[in-house]
Amino acid sequence: MAKCVIIGAGPAGMSAALYLKRAGIDVLLIEKDVPGGEMLKTNKIENYLGFMEIDGGELALKMSAQLKNLGISIVKDKVLKVSKEDKFKIETEKEHLVADYVIVATGRVPRKLGLEDEDKLLNRGISYCAVCDGAFYRNLDVAVIGGGDSALTEALYLADLCHKVYVVVRKDLRASDVLKSRIKAKDNIIILKNVEVVGLDYNDSLSQVRLSDGEKLSVSGMFIAIGGVPILDFLDFDLETVNGYIKTNERMESNVKGLYAVGDVRYKDFYQIITAASDGAIAALSIREDV
Ligand SMILES: Cc1cc2nc3c(=O)[nH]c(=O)nc-3n(C[C@H](O)[C@H](O)[C@H](O)COP(=O)(O)OP(=O)(O)OC[C@H]3O[C@@H](n4cnc5c(N)ncnc54)[C@H](O)[C@@H]3O)c2cc1C
Repeated sequence: MAKCVIIGAGPAGMSAALYLKRAGIDVLLIEKDVPGGEMLKTNKIENYLGFMEIDGGELALKMSAQLKNLGISIVKDKVLKVSKEDKFKIETEKEHLVADYVIVATGRVPRKLGLEDEDKLLNRGISYCAVCDGAFYRNLDVAVIGGGDSALTEALYLADLCHKVYVVVRKDLRASDVLKSRIKAKDNIIILKNVEVVGLDYNDSLSQVRLSDGEKLSVSGMFIAIGGVPILDFLDFDLETVNGYIKTNERMESNVKGLYAVGDVRYKDFYQIITAASDGAIAALSIREDV
């Protein structure tokens, strides 16, 4: 039994844990992998207040060390189901827990393009994380699919490793001006606008990407960065959502009493580390007032 169970130790979940613990509320933080979430996918964060530039892994370590210092333990386990009778019942791979409050901070998984053979080619040319897999494509040609901040961050990372990096974007770039000007300064990044990927050619691994304008890109790797799908399939409730994301009010409350959602899993305009951390703090402070 814990007063509050937080699911997911990305910046949103860790921030919520910090605020709850400091408010004297008994909290249990559950993470299926290592703490850090999406921060672990980037080597360069330049927009988190207090740090001119920091590696995502390092920021994740600093956050988890701060929790450890407060005596908050991060339990490595995967939540399989959350339901509610009088209290919340949380079923994990290892145990059954009961709590008065649940904060969902599970983020999202990368959205797929939906192409035939996309799954089959995962780790055989297709990746959703340049920092994780970029080194396998050293000196080779690759494509990045997407036109937002994440896609351009991936392209910049790959440009330092790979021979040529094509950025394939359905319409136009939607990224920040800082990233756009950095992309311009790299002579091995080629932007292809108003095109879509329509097919993949491969032998053992990816060899060619077919585009909607009839062009074919000979690439060994394709990095897909077209947003994400929120992780909430383990929630056994009649939950209000918007575009698949959990709908909350400004206190991070969902339509289920006692169930809060923070960070990338909730519907909002801006998906950033600082907004995730802010959501976590707000949920914790709201719970403190409710207890
Ligand atoms: C390539 C890339 C670069 C980025 N660069 C920046 C940047 O420079 N600046 C910036 O502000 N933002 C950046 N972002 C966005 C930022 O990382 C996210 O907005 C932020 O991490 C969201 O935090 P979160 O805590 O909501 O979710 P996440 O960080 O996704 O964390 C969710 C956690 O929940 C865990 N989890 C999921 N399901 C379960 C389960 N069933 N049981 C237990 N645990 C579970 C996951 O393992 C994960 O650790 C970037 C994102 C990407 C992909």
